[in-house]
Amino acid sequence: MSEQKSSRIGGFYKLSREERLDAVKDVSGLAQEDLDRLLSTESLPFELADRLVENAVSSFGVPLGIATNMLVDGRDVLVPMATEESSVIAAASNAARQCRDSGGFHTSLSATEMIAQIQVLGLSDPWAGRAKILERKSEIAQICNGCDPMLVKLGGGFRDLQVRVLPSSRGSMVVTHIIVDTKDAMGANAVNTMAERLAPTLASWTGGRHHLRILSNLADRRLARARAVWPKDAIGGTEIVDAMLDAAEFAEVDPYRAATHNKGIMNGISSVALATGNDTRAIEAGAHAYAATSGAYRPLSHYEKTAEGDLAGSIELPLALGLVGGATKVHPMAQVCLKILGVQNVVEFSGIVAAVGLAQNFAALKALATVGIQKGHMTLHAQNVAIAAGATGEEIAQVAAELARRGEVRGDVAETVLAEIRAKT
Ligand code: NAD
Repeated sequence: MSEQKSSRIGGFYKLSREERLDAVKDVSGLAQEDLDRLLSTESLPFELADRLVENAVSSFGVPLGIATNMLVDGRDVLVPMATEESSVIAAASNAARQCRDSGGFHTSLSATEMIAQIQVLGLSDPWAGRAKILERKSEIAQICNGCDPMLVKLGGGFRDLQVRVLPSSRGSMVVTHIIVDTKDAMGANAVNTMAERLAPTLASWTGGRHHLRILSNLADRRLARARAVWPKDAIGGTEIVDAMLDAAEFAEVDPYRAATHNKGIMNGISSVALATGNDTRAIEAGAHAYAATSGAYRPLSHYEKTAEGDLAGSIELPLALGLVGGATKVHPMAQVCLKILGVQNVVEFSGIVAAVGLAQNFAALKALATVGIQKGHMTLHAQNVAIAAGATGEEIAQVAAELARRGEVRGDVAETVLAEIRAKT
């Protein structure tokens, strides 16, 4: 991606598909073959779908859009987002526009480490078993690193060991965590292979019986953070800052609200994860587990008022994202999306994704604290309702406009309106 090109593209939504792609090409430096891929209706050839999953019969299309205006760690970036939900992409773009003048988003990643767990059962002396495992850390490192010479060559591999004794209704279990730097890979296959190789050795050292060997999706060794300041004048003044702080505080004190607050964050994060061929379920599981680590389910983002009276937002969550591995390298559309992002490594990538989560959350909070969420949803939602009621071609816009005018965006109303339109023609 050329550094000098701005992601601030006013009126992107008003452009034709070809004009939008031209703008993306201009900022991201895509090749003609990438544009052809974006223009093609067959984003996933069947032969590939058939290799990715069992019993394949087709592939399932989801809209792919581009969030504009994102400035992350001083770099302008266009963000591909795959989602079926209306308003998500527009909301992220709007939120990003409103914090550009104050420097956009600033991000960090704690590390690129993943955790795999090995469960050992049947020990009468679990604490002694724990000590025996901890004594042999260097042998464990060797066994793990021996599983993935490629990862070690790239500077990754075994990093650390934790062993926990967990009391349970079926007796104490000894749970070993191997902590592995998986670099630019999400690392599930990498750490699962290590855990499976290591497990019999742990059982023989301790005299126990090895059982589960699998990564933890609570990837708290891979925490992505983003922060931004929205100047009060850019978002409508002090009253709006205060209204948004009250809205954010609701999530701090109530898990019913926090669940929806975090869902809004994941609207952004999962859309980028899907567009880039990443494992959306792994990321969702990690985010929600992390939100509950204090013992109560909490929001993943926090808002404060700066000394100048502006709105400061920050977010922290586990992001087990990869640039290699899984479907990222084999799905042709994921590859084009990664080119649009122009990221060099998973640290940069995770920062952008965390920033999108914060942008999405800011947009939802602002809408909720001011006009309500339905206003923004209305236009596209009304079109979806019109299509579901049977409208086609020009009827879609006519029915949607009438639903919006009546303030009743419902399937039964859409059917009535459609019948009225058809009766007149
Ligand atoms: P992978 O095994 O396909 O690729 C990772 C490997 O690529 C590394 O082990 C390394 O040998 C190599 N590699 C090449 N270049 C690299 C680089 N720059 N950085 C790091 N490694 C590099 O994929 P993976 O990331 O180990 O596993 C991801 C897949 O596992 C996803 O498809 C996910 O859906 C799946 N999965 C998830 C779970 C879970 O979340 N619970 C469980 C099982 C499998």
